[in-house]
Amino acid sequence: MFDAARPYYQASIAAGIDRFWYPPRPDCPWCGSPRLKHMFSARDTTQAKPGRFVLNRCRTCGHVFQNPCLNPEGLNFYYKDFYDGIGRPAMEAVFDPRTDIYQSRARMLQPFFPAGEGPRNWLDIGAGYGHFCRDAATIFPHTTFDGLDQGQGVLDAVDKGWIAHAHHSWFPDLETELTGRYDVISMFHYLEHVLDIRAELDLTSRVMPDGGYLLIELPNPESLLRVLGRWWIQWFQPQHLHMPPLGNLLAALMERNLKPVAVQLAEAHIPVDMICAAGAPFMAFAPHPGAPWLTQPRTKWREKRFEFVWTKLSPPFLKFGYKADAWLDPIVRKTGQANLYRVLARKEGPNPLAVR
Ligand SMILES: [Zn+2]
Repeated sequence: MFDAARPYYQASIAAGIDRFWYPPRPDCPWCGSPRLKHMFSARDTTQAKPGRFVLNRCRTCGHVFQNPCLNPEGLNFYYKDFYDGIGRPAMEAVFDPRTDIYQSRARMLQPFFPAGEGPRNWLDIGAGYGHFCRDAATIFPHTTFDGLDQGQGVLDAVDKGWIAHAHHSWFPDLETELTGRYDVISMFHYLEHVLDIRAELDLTSRVMPDGGYLLIELPNPESLLRVLGRWWIQWFQPQHLHMPPLGNLLAALMERNLKPVAVQLAEAHIPVDMICAAGAPFMAFAPHPGAPWLTQPRTKWREKRFEFVWTKLSPPFLKFGYKADAWLDPIVRKTGQANLYRVLARKEGPNPLAVR
């Protein structure tokens, strides 16, 4: 699989990767403030594809964003072989065992439906391989779950019986088809990947029926765990383009008549910060020597280094990270420092910001 992919990557890199970015912005894309703080410049800490990624924080509103931001061509390059192709077996293995997390997300809707009942139709946007829908069906057995994503995984999820229908496309291309069709729309780790969060919220509000629910989960850029800096998994470069603080998202929802009815921090926390921070430097500096996007030749020395790093050097660090996460978990949840937040909003009427 590595060899088949090599010509594409080597040609893309040879053509120059500077073309993958929009020009840098002088101001905050959320509030327009020119008061930006350079946070750090990071490598691709998961796949070690070439390039550096800079995160800025707005000193006025707290919005965190990639600046310069990847353009669609760049996003194609960095997403390729991550959720599909070479990366798929590893990513499916990450998502598959998290049943408790998926059920916890679904339970956030329970207080809003009579006991034993649930939504009729639920659309999960950014459905990935369909794991959330698979497990949410155990909480709401009478609900029809559909998924939307660009990858092959959402199509395979139909064959597995995990979702009823796959929308294999981009959300903005499906407005007519989706309008009025779903009582619940969920977006778990979707909005931080899009180029314009508020345009997607406008679209969501147009698509939702009055009384419909929108469930969002996003990284919490205000968590103290951000002291892990470039090694914090929640910054997740190059994929995370925008990370609004909770208050910014709540305000954006309210402006669109999407009334927040529940917020969760402690329940949303996933204790993986330390183990990921322990592993990230090894992933960045000792990638698989056969990875088709590496420009250095595959030498015996690099193969030996890879083997040494992953069998001898990294395991004690990873073990320490695992223990530190378990130790920190209750403290993080009790002190409101969760690495993620969830917001459930109900559509109360038309979007007053709508131009049309
Ligand atoms: Zn701002």
